[in-house]
Order: sequence, then C-alpha cells, then structure tokens
Amino acid sequence: MRIGVPAETAAGETRVAATPETVKKLVAQGRTVCVQSGAGVAASAVDDAYAAAGAEIVDAAGAFGADLVLKVQPPSAEELTLMKSGATLVGMLNPFDAEGLQRLAQAGLTAFALEAAPRTTRAQSMDVLSSQANVAGYKAVMLAANQYQRLFPMLMTAAGTIKAARVVVLGVGVAGLQAIATAKRLGAVIEASDVRPSVKEQVESLGARFIDVPYETDEEREAAEGVGGYARPMPQSWLDRQKVEVAKRVAQADVVISTALIPGRPAPVLITEDMVKSMKPGSVIVDLAAGRGPGGTDGNCPLTEAGSVVQKHGVHIVGLTNLPALVAADSSSLYARNVLDFLKLVLPSDATAVQVPMEDDIVAACLMTQAGKVVRS
Ligand code: NAD
Repeated sequence: MRIGVPAETAAGETRVAATPETVKKLVAQGRTVCVQSGAGVAASAVDDAYAAAGAEIVDAAGAFGADLVLKVQPPSAEELTLMKSGATLVGMLNPFDAEGLQRLAQAGLTAFALEAAPRTTRAQSMDVLSSQANVAGYKAVMLAANQYQRLFPMLMTAAGTIKAARVVVLGVGVAGLQAIATAKRLGAVIEASDVRPSVKEQVESLGARFIDVPYETDEEREAAEGVGGYARPMPQSWLDRQKVEVAKRVAQADVVISTALIPGRPAPVLITEDMVKSMKPGSVIVDLAAGRGPGGTDGNCPLTEAGSVVQKHGVHIVGLTNLPALVAADSSSLYARNVLDFLKLVLPSDATAVQVPMEDDIVAACLMTQAGKVVRS
C-alpha cells in the first residue's frame, strides 16, 4: 500500500497534505509513503525531514502513481493522467464543483472531499474548513494591520494619545471568531454581525460587541437557525435592517473583516459601494469571501477584486483568496493532522487497502466519486 504526497501546483498554493510528523505515523503503521521532492519546502518541511520520518522521496509520477494520494487542492487535468484508475484521493476537492468531480469520476478515482465532513463533535479533528478558517481569520487581521497606517492598540505616550482601532467583523463562523480574538489581542475595539443568534454569546465572550438585529417574523427566526450549523439565506426584510445597522458601524470603522458565506451559494453582499465611500481614508477591508461573491471575482463587497489588494474611494480592499497558504507551515501541520484523522476511518491500521464504510456518516458525507461515478455533489 503506497501513499503519495505530491507537491501542490495550483497558483499560490504553498501547503502540503502530509508533514514529517504525520508521515512518521503512517510509516509506523507499515505504510510506504512517497513524498514528491520539494513538496513541503514552502511549508518549511524539507526533503531530509520527510526522509528522516521514513518517507521515500520521489518525483511527481511516483507520488501521483500511489494507491492513495493525499492532496490539498484538486489535481489538475495533467496530474490526473498520472493517477491510477482505482486509486483513492483525499483532499479539499470542492464538493460544489460538479465538473471537477466528474473529472475525478472519469479518472476512476475513489475521491473523498474533506470539506464535506459534517460539523459534528466526532468530525472536529478532521474538520479542514475549521482548521484552515482559523488560520485565515488570524491572517486577515495581520494583513489588515499591515495595510493600516495607524496602530491597533490605544497608546498613551509622552507625544500624545493614539486611539484604539475600531474593527467590524461581518460573519462570525470559525474565521470571524479567530479574527475577533486576534484583533482583541492587538487592542482593537470590535463589533461583529452574524445571522445566527447563537453567535451573540460567543462574540461577547471574546470581549466584542454584537450588532443586534432582532428577528421580527417566524420566517426570519427560522432562517436564522440555519441548517447543520451553517447559515441559510435570510429574508430580505432582515437583510435590509442588518444593512442599516452595519452601515452605521462600517462608516466609523478603521478595519472591516468580512467572512460571511452560505454553503453552495454566492456570498452575501454586506459592504456596498456607498458604505465603502462612507469609510475614512486609509481604512482597510479584508474580504475573506473574495472570489465567492455574486460577480465571481467579488466577495462580501462588490468592489473586492479576488487575488488583489486594491484601493477604492481611499479604502484598501484586500481580496487575497488563499490566506491559509500565507501561513503554510501551521496550515499544513493542522491540515495534515486532519487528513491523518480521516485516514483512520478509511484505512484502519490493520487494513491493507482503503475501505469505504458507508455506515460511517463522515465517510459517507466525504465520498464524492467511486467506481467511475459521482456519488454525491
Ligand atoms: P461559514 O464559513 O460557512 O460562514 C461564515 C459565517 O458567515 C457564518 O457564521 C454565517 O452564519 C455567516 N453569515 C452568512 N450570511 C451572513 C450574513 N448575511 N450576515 C452576516 N453573517 C452571515 O461558517 P463556518 O466558519 O464554516 O461555521 C459554520 C458553523 O459551523 C458555525 O456555526 C460553527 O460554529 C459551526 N462549526 C461547528 C463545528 C463542530 O461542532 N464540530 C466545527 C466547526 C464549525
């Protein structure tokens, strides 16, 4: 049983799906792990470290030609030609990309998309959305602090007093909570908005203020409960009232970090052009929904340009799309542990081949393609 760890080739991708730490554990189970030369370099894991962990250092064909291939991003068309029909692929494979999944099915792969794991307690240790969103939330604040030409904390100095930065966080899932915690550690004053009522307590426990938009109808209350922990599109009546409250805060904000997403749908527009115009010169928006907005290249703000940092109406808008890749070493180490935990379900230590126990809800949720067919999209 050979496990392959190729180098990622997607633009801007610096992460790797296995680290020397996780390779060592797989090797201890008697697996042969084939790591492509240089696969971990951008994530601070050099070939020698993998070799010391017991890996074979191979070329791309050697890594992609394994029985089980561990990836971060979906393989490119060219990489798919290096994979064996009947092999297993584990990675972040975009469960909502029907065409991409079709290509994996046609290549004869048993493919598991880890983003599709349920948000349950048992799945927490293999929850790649959480592990990577956590890093993204932290890095969003770092990027904002870097763009912002003032300080975050209040400072009383002999040369005068500096006011604390006002930070608004829109969307308080995993990334938003980490953004709040990080901005708080830097001394900012923070307000946050989300559609889900359960978030209020979490926001307040981190020392931030929740932007309350009370629900006025049963339809609003029901939509706000979401499904499976995720948000659902809210009725327009609630969104209109949220917009009024958010607009007031955005106009006073120095930094806005937006992370609002609805699975399988375009990200909601929360920061309109008028709101951007109302912001002070030199303020910063970091739009973590960049590339997922209604226009495809926008995000929670229509002025966001995915992949770029732009200045609009005097406001810096950061639209970088892969923030975890900017923290490659820690993102990879968390991701690799997520992958290792998932493997326990499909490759128990006594198994000689990958198994697909469909009675396991996590395995069933993550399975995307099998025997030439897309089984779930
Ligand atoms: P996400 O990335 O899908 O969305 C980010 C946030 O945007 C969410 O909090 C969502 O409610 C919010 N949002 C959507 N539309 C909005 C709007 N119009 N205005 C403001 N906010 C809006 O979320 P996520 O980080 O993946 O987390 C989703 C849920 O899963 C959360 O409830 C989280 O606590 C839960 N979760 C549970 C577990 C677990 O139990 N194992 C693990 C991770 C996450």
